[in-house]
Amino acid sequence: MSKSVLIVGGGTAGWICAAYMARMLAADTPGGVTITLVESDEIGILGVGEGTFPIIRKTMSRIGLDESELIREADATFKQGIRFNNWKKNPADDPHDTYFHPFQVASQHTDMDLLPYWLLGVAGDVPWAEACTVQERVVDAKLAPKLITHPNYNAPLNYAYHFDAGKLAQVVCRQAMAMGVKRLIDTIDDVKVDEHGIASVQGRTHGELKADLYIDCTGFRARLIGEALGSGFTSYKDQLFCNRAVAMQVPYDRPDAPIPSCTYTSAQDAGWIWDIGLHNRRGVGYVYASDYCSDDEALATLKRYIGPAADNLQHRKLAFEAGFRKTQWHKNCIGVGLSVGFIEPLEATGISFAEVAALMLCNLFPWSGDYERSAQQFNQAMTKRFEHVIDFIKLHYYLSERTDTAFWRDNRAPASASDYLKGKLEQWRHRPPSFLDIDASHDIFDENSWQYILYGMGFKTDISARAGALRFYDDAKREFESIRQQSNKAMTAVPNHRDLINEVVARG
Ligand code: FAD
Repeated sequence: MSKSVLIVGGGTAGWICAAYMARMLAADTPGGVTITLVESDEIGILGVGEGTFPIIRKTMSRIGLDESELIREADATFKQGIRFNNWKKNPADDPHDTYFHPFQVASQHTDMDLLPYWLLGVAGDVPWAEACTVQERVVDAKLAPKLITHPNYNAPLNYAYHFDAGKLAQVVCRQAMAMGVKRLIDTIDDVKVDEHGIASVQGRTHGELKADLYIDCTGFRARLIGEALGSGFTSYKDQLFCNRAVAMQVPYDRPDAPIPSCTYTSAQDAGWIWDIGLHNRRGVGYVYASDYCSDDEALATLKRYIGPAADNLQHRKLAFEAGFRKTQWHKNCIGVGLSVGFIEPLEATGISFAEVAALMLCNLFPWSGDYERSAQQFNQAMTKRFEHVIDFIKLHYYLSERTDTAFWRDNRAPASASDYLKGKLEQWRHRPPSFLDIDASHDIFDENSWQYILYGMGFKTDISARAGALRFYDDAKREFESIRQQSNKAMTAVPNHRDLINEVVARG
């Protein structure tokens, strides 16, 4: 008999989950899974979450959306990485301190591992990200990662997107409904629980709603997995101190203003500011720690960053806590999105957690009625994934040399980092991170990302003891030079980012 799924919540997590399951579990065919999504028109979606990670392309492609639809309808722009300003040094000592985390992996034109040679100084004083890919220079010149002729979701340079979060949920909603997902507008007032988990949910208009499987996408409210089933939240606020954000939407000062093809994150006294370029506006927000900064100070800092353009703009305040639920799948209920956890958006991981959860859910779907084994596997994998992302985000703070405020000093305290992270850093003093440090089926960030942050932050790995085994100095030198020349060529080979966006929009 066909199984039924009820998704409660229609934010980015709810709709991505609905569309993904509809596609993978054949919601539009007889015998396929029946999927209903109920969302409240009284409780809005969070509506922030504008940055993504490259796995978004696979998700959108699987859902069956065209890249040009995302650009036209969700104001998508290309994101090729993240530029970190003022994370390493006290701004008074070095106001121009900066590094880049590109999405492109180190040079793919050769089998040779260039990193050891870079560590031995073969590329001179060129930063690792600039030495090993063309992407940093492409981004700094505000160029696109691809040509208009490159096919859907493909390009020579790896990329993700920036989106208008509200519009993205609408685009994915439309696609999910076209694939057979039924949408109900209702507010769930009550959740009934029995020995199988959720027995039913009570809609204000539609009355009692029942299904075989319930997916909680109610955001921070966590109406099913948290409130009704009591799955506990494990806080990581001792490692990641930020717990507030204040955000503004800033119109461009002219219609042809350049659109950056990366996110800018600029470290501040008690956190950091994100700056994301969409078609007609920027999304800018200060993520801060309330123990170190009042809401008024945070707003003043954000306004100072934006300048006079902030004068007549509305702002939005958000509160959160770093952490997650270790039981995300309990009996017949799975939490996806903010209902099961949140880590500050420094590397834009929120939506990718929902994407990965949807993928795992489809693969572990309890066709046989055995919920327990699937739940165990799901929970173990998600726990590992959250813990590793927390370590990865903490790395950005822990390696900082900033001592100018209590926030930065406290972030460097060994007690504020996990033993796992400290152990890895010990190892990486003598060898760089490699694929052996990554769990390919669980980790969102691979060794390339760890390397970009480590060496961007000025971490030192001493490989002098094995320098004698590295015999291809001349080849490495040639490869670095070749990458430099390719960067020069890229300056004229790929289009300006805004021009590409305008062209896609104009082609309708
Ligand atoms: P929500 O958007 O809150 O949606 C909840 C849904 O549940 C709504 O449809 C609501 O109507 C419904 N609902 C709630 N209660 C009921 C009820 N009783 N009955 C019926 N329906 C109900 N992520 C990224 O990937 N990149 C970023 O750059 C990023 N930046 C962020 C910045 C900040 C400051 C914050 C706080 C988060 C950010 N995130 C980011 C996270 C991202 O916003 C979320 O992962 C994403 O929006 C998914 O949210 P959601 O769908 O889980 O919840």
